[in-house]
Amino acid sequence: MEHLPSKYMWKKQLKTSINEYWSSIWTIECNTKSTLKHLSLQKDPVNNPHNIWKCVRNNQYDIKKAELKLKLVTGTYMLQSTRAKFSKNIHPNCKLCNESEETLEHFLLHCSNLSDVRQRYIMDKLFKLLREIERGGTINVINNELLLKII
Ligand SMILES: [Zn+2]
Repeated sequence: MEHLPSKYMWKKQLKTSINEYWSSIWTIECNTKSTLKHLSLQKDPVNNPHNIWKCVRNNQYDIKKAELKLKLVTGTYMLQSTRAKFSKNIHPNCKLCNESEETLEHFLLHCSNLSDVRQRYIMDKLFKLLREIERGGTINVINNELLLKII
């Protein structure tokens, strides 16, 4: 009974233990769940909101954009390929172009009907940034999987 921690120390230790537990669960799930393969895990995910939320300003448009991004990176956005898995009456091809299966990669990188929007809002700025990084000589950053994570 002599070495009981103070109330402050007890609360601090309890909070640390809970955060460590949920951080480890979060890390394990991000590494094992295929739907989370596009989500970049950040340091200390319990105390630190994901970058998608950090970029949100306090308006409805930004919040809707963040919700859409989170659905895309967590694999919960309903693409045709996902719908087709649950119903055999639904064709997995993209409804916008009907050229191939609507996967996340197709939706973000290859759909011909979204190319103008993609080029205007994402690719010009993104490729400029990636080329600047690549010129630094550290890594080869221009490939589809990395592009999906960055977008
Ligand atoms: Zn398409």
